[in-house]
Amino acid sequence: MNLISQIFGSNVYNDSVMRERLPKATYKALKKTIDEGLPLDFEIADVVASSMKDWAIEKGATHYTHWFQPMTGITAEKHDSFINATADGKAILEFSGRELIKGEADGSSFPSGGLRVTFEARGYTAWDCTSPAFIKNNTLYIPTAFCSYTGETLDKKTPLLRSIECLSKNAVRVLKLFGNENVTKATPTVGAEQEYFLIDKKMYDKRKDLIFTGRTLFGSKAPKGQEMDDHYYGSIKARVSSFMKDLDRELWKLGIFAKTEHNEVAPAQHELAPIFTTSNIATDHNQLIMELLKTVALKHGLVCLLHEKPFAGVNGSGKHNNWSLSTNDGQNLFDPGKTPHENVQFLLFLCAVIKAVDEYADLIRLSGANPGNDHRLGTSEAPPSIISIFLGDELTKILEQIVSGENIETNCLEKLMVGVKTLPELRKDTTDRNRTSPFAFTGNKFEFRMVGSSASIASANFFLNTAVADVLEQFADRLEKAKDFSKEVNSIIKDVVKENGRIIFNGNGYSDEWVKEAERRGLPNIKSYVEAIACLLKEKNIAVMEKQKVFSRVEMHSRYEISLEKYIKTINIEAMTMLEISKRQLLPACIKFETEIARSINEIKNCGVEVDISANTDLLKETASLVSQFKKEISLLENSLSKAQHSFEDTFEQAMFYRQDVFARMETLRTVVDELECIVASSIWPIPTYADILFNI
Ligand code: ADP
Ligand code: MG
Repeated sequence: MNLISQIFGSNVYNDSVMRERLPKATYKALKKTIDEGLPLDFEIADVVASSMKDWAIEKGATHYTHWFQPMTGITAEKHDSFINATADGKAILEFSGRELIKGEADGSSFPSGGLRVTFEARGYTAWDCTSPAFIKNNTLYIPTAFCSYTGETLDKKTPLLRSIECLSKNAVRVLKLFGNENVTKATPTVGAEQEYFLIDKKMYDKRKDLIFTGRTLFGSKAPKGQEMDDHYYGSIKARVSSFMKDLDRELWKLGIFAKTEHNEVAPAQHELAPIFTTSNIATDHNQLIMELLKTVALKHGLVCLLHEKPFAGVNGSGKHNNWSLSTNDGQNLFDPGKTPHENVQFLLFLCAVIKAVDEYADLIRLSGANPGNDHRLGTSEAPPSIISIFLGDELTKILEQIVSGENIETNCLEKLMVGVKTLPELRKDTTDRNRTSPFAFTGNKFEFRMVGSSASIASANFFLNTAVADVLEQFADRLEKAKDFSKEVNSIIKDVVKENGRIIFNGNGYSDEWVKEAERRGLPNIKSYVEAIACLLKEKNIAVMEKQKVFSRVEMHSRYEISLEKYIKTINIEAMTMLEISKRQLLPACIKFETEIARSINEIKNCGVEVDISANTDLLKETASLVSQFKKEISLLENSLSKAQHSFEDTFEQAMFYRQDVFARMETLRTVVDELECIVASSIWPIPTYADILFNI
């Protein structure tokens, strides 16, 4: 099987498989459930389950699993075989509708942020029929949502599905008012570009920091970094190319439209972009992409690093969440369109995003934050920590004209826009794009560039979907009541530009001037993950999530706790790993080097020839001084870590201490070690250096 058309989707129980294998009535009922979110009755589920099982078994599957996305950020699965025992002790292969729709999962070891008390460890998984089932490793994977027994969400899919629903509902209300009679559904679409590093497994195995934390905790810059710009879009090395080909095939089998693969800015860094799809499927697919990147790499003797900042001094990795909204009648709501009517509708939806992103900038910021991304955001390689929207000069000018326009005809959409009857065709230029903006309009979609490379894209999407849904609800309320529709549209646009226009910024987001300007505009500048987490408890944020039925107050509190714990655990592991490597590998190596110099001095002195040994003594002094600093830094980090572990009741304060004290200590320890790395003989230095790791494939 070599033709892409034969491989593509061959392991997916997709629409064409369903159409071919299900009785017509069952297919129709299932389609209705998928398209309209109606409940599926058990009889139909039984037929679907049995067809799925037969299909899976024909493809060699023996097991099935309810595949879910707990708040660890990765996926989880529990495998059951299709085998059941008959009364006379024989084995039959069975899979019922009940088993398809709902699974039990003992979730006591997944983070719940206090939502489940230990004695109530049960959770359940519910089939998400809007994302197709697939086969991987002889197992049928059924995408599911994961809830506690009392119904609280314990995963990243449930809020995403809820946000898709509320966004659709409110977008449709607005669209109906624009006369779109056939629109019954609006679906957010997403294409997530994924960056990653590939390194040789032999190097990886020698670095405990990579093994335990995913990033290098030590390492001085290699003589060469990314300054020559010779890696970006460079020719792909044979070993990497064969990995990419293999990866594409595996992804295609799962129905993932892996499209673009290229080298990225940093040495050993690459990117993969799939073609966009619905945000729910895109989120599942991104999880699969991350998983397959890792497993396929191993087959090639490589390790894929998804950490946001695996190496200091060269760029880290992110994920660009391209987002738009499309309707069941084929409109992309962020395509400006060609007619004035389409233009106005576009401008209103554009304003919904502007208002949503401005008012919920803190939630959007949080969705791009994690411990790894703290190393990137705001450091001239990734968007600043300040949320702003790039619209481009043309579009910004049009909005400004609408605000300043005075004599606007009230009853005619065509004349809504001042000076322009229709929007000029907006340039879709990929070359002079503003790459420093965290949230850029790119012609017919938005590109949210803040997500971390290791993160699930779910929260970036559910916060954005919910915020936009809420704003559209406010617009719909106003428009439904309005006596004069056009006038009201106009006044909404004006209000948004006046009240939320501060979020629009087309300049250089990496500049210091922007930081000052943003402060003047009153835009939040949330510098770190821990500080961003605090926004989960803000009343306005709880209110919007509750109103749109995406999270309850309790669920927001639980996410707050889980996020803080995630930070604490991450830094704790990093600090412990740093101490382990320092004490057992690096300090002994440095002392060995020191001793060798001392020995050389003695030997030269004793050999009876009078020579200048100042080089040896200078080097000894320099080494000894750094070694003693090294030892001191180890003690300081140990003390800080012990304080962090034992002296806090409040999780937020504890997390802040990890950030401000433990993390700061780690940085100073690293500086000393990196200096030592530059003088200790390479034959003695016990771990591979950046030069060894980054330029090895
Ligand atoms: P660009 O060159 O402007 O970055 P691409 O066409 O390469 O744009 O797209 C980048 C990503 O955006 C791809 O994953 C692509 O599938 C996705 N994308 C394109 N259109 C949409 C859309 N309407 N909704 C969501 N994602 C989209
Ligand atoms: Mg991009």
